[in-house]
Amino acid sequence: MSDHKVYYNYIGGEWVPARSGKTYENRNPADTRDVIGIFPDSGAEDIADAVAAAKEAYNAWRLVPAPKRGELLYRASQILQERKEQYANDMTREMGKVLAETRGDVQEAIDMGYFMAGEGRRLYGVTTPSELPNKFQMSVRQPLGVCGLITPWNFPMAIPSWKIFPALICGNTVVIKPAEDTPLSTYNFVQALVDAGVPKGVVNIVSGHGPTAGEPLVQHPDVKVISFTGSTEVGRHVSTLCAQQGKHVSLEMGGKNPMIIMDDADLDLVLAGAVWGAFGTTGQRCTATSRIIAHRSIVDELTSRIQAEAKTIQVGNGLLDGMQMGPSINEGQLSVVEKYVKIGREEGAELVLGGERLTDGDLSHGFFHQPTIFGNVKRNMRIAQEEIFGPVVSIIPVDSLEEAIDVANDVPYGLSSSIYTRNVNNAFIAMRDLYTGIVYVNAPTIGAEIHLPFGGTKGTGNGKREGGTQVLDTYSEWKSLYVDYSGGLQRAQIDNAE
Ligand code: NAD
Repeated sequence: MSDHKVYYNYIGGEWVPARSGKTYENRNPADTRDVIGIFPDSGAEDIADAVAAAKEAYNAWRLVPAPKRGELLYRASQILQERKEQYANDMTREMGKVLAETRGDVQEAIDMGYFMAGEGRRLYGVTTPSELPNKFQMSVRQPLGVCGLITPWNFPMAIPSWKIFPALICGNTVVIKPAEDTPLSTYNFVQALVDAGVPKGVVNIVSGHGPTAGEPLVQHPDVKVISFTGSTEVGRHVSTLCAQQGKHVSLEMGGKNPMIIMDDADLDLVLAGAVWGAFGTTGQRCTATSRIIAHRSIVDELTSRIQAEAKTIQVGNGLLDGMQMGPSINEGQLSVVEKYVKIGREEGAELVLGGERLTDGDLSHGFFHQPTIFGNVKRNMRIAQEEIFGPVVSIIPVDSLEEAIDVANDVPYGLSSSIYTRNVNNAFIAMRDLYTGIVYVNAPTIGAEIHLPFGGTKGTGNGKREGGTQVLDTYSEWKSLYVDYSGGLQRAQIDNAE
């Protein structure tokens, strides 16, 4: 019998094992000898229990005044703030990114909680004048019911918070299925809500794998909306399943984010942004900079400066002082990185830096890879078109702003993009013409703030947004209300009523 900590699902206010008794191990990607904990390997029956609990709890939760719901979110955020260091440590152990980044992940959850707590006192509707006297009309938001939330491993607390907090403030109840690689951070998040006093059944967490736990959640007829963040391939499958039931669905999926560097850019500024954008979170951000589209007149200087800077990145266990880049999340993700390095070489791109797995000393126990740069990349190469989700960046030379924007838009994704230039006209043209959900000027493709809408075009999304007040549209429906206080005297005047 192992002495590793055992975690349970949280269903209807109780911590319970999977009905089948099945479990799986969660290990540290920086050192696979380190077992984080044992988690339920749940199935459709556990999802059914959680959905039933959420459905039952919805009856009362939807009637709790929204400012009161906001108080719960506020308390949860305070608890997260008190536990920030512990939860960041747990996250680095289970996900691998360095402590500075996991602190940022927890902080995003805190910020989202405070932001959405405030929405409890707004949740604005719309009033409009009537065509008739003595008639009042307005539109209000109403909740949908049980929300099914499915999340990836790269932001294992922030992304659940982007979904759970707005769902709750609107008056819904939730069942979350966290990524199989990072359940602990989502459990920690739910624990904060439990300690803040969330009523039983309002928040439920069920861990397990995509096809066996995620898919039953998508297919459950009592789940009214699915919010999914993950790969485009799985997202499209989820969307198809939702369509069969006419179910609401919000999708946030892959990216292939470009950074344009014009010939008038401040290269010192570019350097910091490019290295952080490409190699932060080991390139495993949906907004990671994976293409640097650089003006031909500065591309050689830029390439050698980025190479020199990236060479100094300290790769290792994110819990250790001074580390700047952690491991890939698992063996499968690392082999995707290795596969694309091979593809890039075969396609004829120039390997400027890295390209190898790191196995020296303790690194041999984790999934580490060198920061990798390809130069002289052509726009249609696979390494310039497909999401790699690892520490690999492609530098693509171009001759003009027009060409740069054309190359930037010429991928199946559209999450984030950026341009470095000192020319205000270039900046405004890029802001107008880059077809992505987010555009940065003189900053890398990462760094979104939670109170602006977050999401992407094309293969990245389905038109929905997380963050901002726009996220409320995922978790509520509009209801229009007409009040006639004329005593019916004017009915005869209505000649165009629908
Ligand atoms: P993934 O698609 O493999 O898994 C995401 C989630 O879906 C996991 O919880 C998984 O268990 C679940 N899942 C898998 N198969 C399922 C099925 N058949 N039915 C229901 N659920 C299923 O993605 P990942 O590897 O965890 O995350 C990496 C991907 O996420 C990248 O493509 C990245 O770009 C994307 N991502 C996007 C955003 C964004 O906001 N656009 C943010 C973070 C990550």
